[in-house]
Amino acid sequence: MWMFKHEKSLKIYLNRKKTKKQVIGFVPTMGALHQGHISLIEACNKKSDRTVCSIFVNPTQFNDKKDLEKYPRTLEKDVQMLFDGGCHVVFLPTVTEIYPTPPTQHYDLGELEQIFEGSSRPGHFQGVCQVVDRLFEIVQPDKVFFGQKDYQQCMVINRLLALVPNFSKITMKIVPTQREASGLAMSSRNLRLSAEQRTTAAQLYQTLLFLKTKLHPGQLSNLLEQSKKHLFDAGFRCDYISIAHAATLEPVQNWDGKIPLVALVAAFLGEVRLIDNLLLTD
Ligand code: AMP
Repeated sequence: MWMFKHEKSLKIYLNRKKTKKQVIGFVPTMGALHQGHISLIEACNKKSDRTVCSIFVNPTQFNDKKDLEKYPRTLEKDVQMLFDGGCHVVFLPTVTEIYPTPPTQHYDLGELEQIFEGSSRPGHFQGVCQVVDRLFEIVQPDKVFFGQKDYQQCMVINRLLALVPNFSKITMKIVPTQREASGLAMSSRNLRLSAEQRTTAAQLYQTLLFLKTKLHPGQLSNLLEQSKKHLFDAGFRCDYISIAHAATLEPVQNWDGKIPLVALVAAFLGEVRLIDNLLLTD
């Protein structure tokens, strides 16, 4: 496995592979890796000749500075996991390597930026686009791999691919959410949970399953109220729980029994904010 810290040397390496017509797959991460990340590496390995993984905790996507400071960093373990997972290249840039000057570009994300994660974390998706734009520009991948765990982020990346002309040939694959045996979606943030909170955290997925089982055509407000109560009783502070059109993320209050739906949730356990989602109609 190769490790690069600088754009220049990574590009020299990748250009050699590209002249041999090798397919470059790319998995951007913020480290503190777990099996969810490794499932992206495995998916990438299946579809590409070279798998590149970046580890970069992007300051511009954190609207809460404390959250950035507390973001777990486990570099040594991450590198070992990538090696064991069959990754070919790790890119470990510094902040100045990614942003030689502070990024100023604004991306037109439309409604996507006004709802759910967009409204709860102002500026978050602009930061995501800034870093992904820069990383794609450096790696120039053929294929990129993102987790369904961050459902709205996948839609934002899709929009970015359409917005930036140089990215028109990149294809994006969405990899299913990897879960603990309890159903808890794997997340780097889980490292910040106490043992007791970790047990409680599984109720997030149980609540989504409850929505899926009880889903019926017609008004959905009652169902959502029940799910909010469920979260509250389990000990969560709910940020949002909502049912939306799976393709547009437009919230759905009254279901016609036909359109595809996704349930999205964000809730706090203590200081830790967890998100999850579930397709309800697949
Ligand atoms: P992060 O390091 O949190 O920025 O995540 C890097 C990539 O891993 C993103 O595409 C995430 O959606 C994906 N990811 C995170 N957790 C999971 C999971 N439990 N299952 C699948 N993919 C995940």
